[in-house]
Amino acid sequence: MERTLILCKPDCMEKNLAGDVLARFQNAGLQLVAAKMLRLTPALLDEHYSHLKDKPFFPEIVAFMSSRPVLALILSGDHAVTRVRDLLGPTDSRKAAPGTIRGDLGTSNMLNIAHASDSPENAELEVKRFFRPDEIPA
Ligand code: ADP
Repeated sequence: MERTLILCKPDCMEKNLAGDVLARFQNAGLQLVAAKMLRLTPALLDEHYSHLKDKPFFPEIVAFMSSRPVLALILSGDHAVTRVRDLLGPTDSRKAAPGTIRGDLGTSNMLNIAHASDSPENAELEVKRFFRPDEIPA
């Protein structure tokens, strides 16, 4: 069993699509392990998106991601990281195929509905970044 970390982003929350997104993952056989809403701080986003710090759009991402509370999820299943990324589609929603979450529900490169961990190693780091141990079932 592998775990992965999802953030339903502010565009997802504003469009009232968090239930739809979670249902797509659960209908694909992934298990919901933990869930909570939180507002991301610039300090947390600096850490989470450190690989994008030098991009010109970085300040925009921080402003967008901290604009309203997000829903953080931990999902588990066989090959959960890859399966969730496949269900999500590529970063640019306009290039994502119909049937994928970003293809059906996203708007652009930035407004792309959800974040999902991109490797099992990052998933474990991200689970610890967003959840305390007592928020996760043993
Ligand atoms: P992903 O979320 O698909 O793993 P990245 O880690 O490359 O993609 O980027 C993190 C987030 O930064 C994206 O989900 C998106 O919201 C935003 N982003 C990425 N590229 C761009 C871009 N060219 N313009 C605006 N926002 C972007």
